[in-house]
Amino acid sequence: MPLSKLSCLIVDDDRFMLKTLEVLLQQIGVTKTYSSDNAQDALKYIANQNNHIDIIISDLNMPEMDGIQLLRHLGGLGVAMGIILVSGEDPRLLQSVKTLGETFDLMVLGTLGKPVAKQELQSLIEEYEPSADTPPTGPAAMVFADELKMAIANHEIKVHYQPQVSLIDGRIVGVEALARWNHPVKGAISPSIFIGIAEKYSMIKELTNQVFEQSLTQASHWRSQGFDINLSVNFSAQALTQLDMPESIFEQLQGSALRPHNLNIEITESTLASDISIALDILTRLRLKGFGLSIDDFGTGFSSLEQLQQIPFTELKVDRSFVHNANVNRACQVILESSISLTKKLGIKSVAEGVENEADLNLVKAQGCDIVQGYYFAKPMPPEEFIPWARDYSSSLNRPFKPGD
Ligand code: C2E
Ligand code: CA
Ligand code: CA
Repeated sequence: MPLSKLSCLIVDDDRFMLKTLEVLLQQIGVTKTYSSDNAQDALKYIANQNNHIDIIISDLNMPEMDGIQLLRHLGGLGVAMGIILVSGEDPRLLQSVKTLGETFDLMVLGTLGKPVAKQELQSLIEEYEPSADTPPTGPAAMVFADELKMAIANHEIKVHYQPQVSLIDGRIVGVEALARWNHPVKGAISPSIFIGIAEKYSMIKELTNQVFEQSLTQASHWRSQGFDINLSVNFSAQALTQLDMPESIFEQLQGSALRPHNLNIEITESTLASDISIALDILTRLRLKGFGLSIDDFGTGFSSLEQLQQIPFTELKVDRSFVHNANVNRACQVILESSISLTKKLGIKSVAEGVENEADLNLVKAQGCDIVQGYYFAKPMPPEEFIPWARDYSSSLNRPFKPGD
C-alpha cells in the first residue's frame, strides 16, 4: 500500500514527541496523520465508525491509561489496524509488550526506542498490509463459532479421560481431561479445531471453566471412592490472563477430594514461548498454592532452558511426535532423550505422550521416563468407562487398583 494512502494515529502524552513523529511521518510520505495526547481520546477516535485508521503509533508510558491498557482495549474492539509501540524503556520490555499485543490478536508491526529513527519507523510502516479478512473471518467460520457458542451455552461440551501410568510400578497415577464436542449434524469435532475457534472468538475461558468443573467433580468422585489419582487439565495461554485465576481455582478445589498437588495444570509450550512474561505471574502463584504445573507438547515450541527455569514447572510432557516411532527415527530419539535428561536436571517429572505400541513403551522406559500416556494403554474415554477399564488393567497387572479391591 503506498505510504501516501495511509492514515496514522499518534498517541503520546508528550506534545513535543507528537510533533516530532508527525514530522517524521510526513518526511516519509504519510500525510494523513492524527494526534492524541491521551489513550482515552485515541480510543474514542478509533471507535467512531467514520474514522479510518491504518496504523496507531503509541507511546507506552502515559498517565491514566498506558500503552498496555490501550492495547487491551484495542484487542477488545477487535481492531484490524497495525500498531507500533514507542518507548524509552528497556528494549526487552518493548519486546514483551509486543508479545502481549499479539496475544490480544493485534497486528503489532514492531517497537521503536526513543529517540525514534526515521529509517526504522519507515521500515515498520512498510510492513503494514491492510487485511480485509482478519478475524472474525469468513461466513463458515462464523457459523461454526456460533454453533460452538451455543454448544458451550447448552453445556454440550463433554470431557473424556485418558489414563496416565507410572513406569516405576505400572500404577495408574492420573487422568488427563480432554474436551469433546459431538456436533448434532457434523459428528465428533476434534478439539484441535474447536479449541482454536474458542480461542479466536473469546470463548476459551468459558470452555476451560466447564471442562475444569466437570473434570474436578468427576475426579473428586473417583478419589472419594478410594482411587488415588491426579487430574490434569489443559489451560490455554489465553486462560492465563486473569490475575485471580490461582485464587479461583484454589477455591473451586475446596470441598472436593483433591488437594492442590492432585491437580496438574497443563500449558502448551508453543503458546508459552511467546507469552512468558504475562503468564509468569499467574503460573508462579499457582505453584505457590501447591498446584502441579505441566509443560505440554514439549519439543514443539522454542522455550529456552532459561525460560524453563523461570517457571516452576513440576512436569514436562514430551510431545507425541517425538515418542511414537522414535525407535526408528534418530532425530526424534535425540529430542526425546534430551527432554527426559532435562527433566532429571530440573528435578521434575517426565511424561511421554503418544505411546502407541510396545516399541514406544520400551524406548521411553529405557530413557528413564516417569509416566506414560497413550493408545497402548488406553484412548481417552467417557467417564463411565474409566473404572471398568482401570479394574481390567489392574487385574492384568495382578495388583489392586484401589485398596480393598
Ligand atoms: P494434548 O493436550 O496434547 O492432548 C493429548 C492428545 O493426544 C489428545 O488428543 C489425545 O487423544 C491424543 N493422544 C493420546 N495418546 C495418543 C496416542 O497414543 N496416539 C495418538 N496419535 N494420539 C494420542 P485430542 O483429545 O484430540 O486433543 C487434542 C488437543 O486439543 C490436546 O492436545 C489439547 O491441546 C487440546 N485440548 C483438548 N481438550 C482441551 C481443553 O479442555 N482445553 C484446552 N485448552 N485444550 C484442549
Ligand atoms: Ca495436554
Ligand atoms: Ca500434549
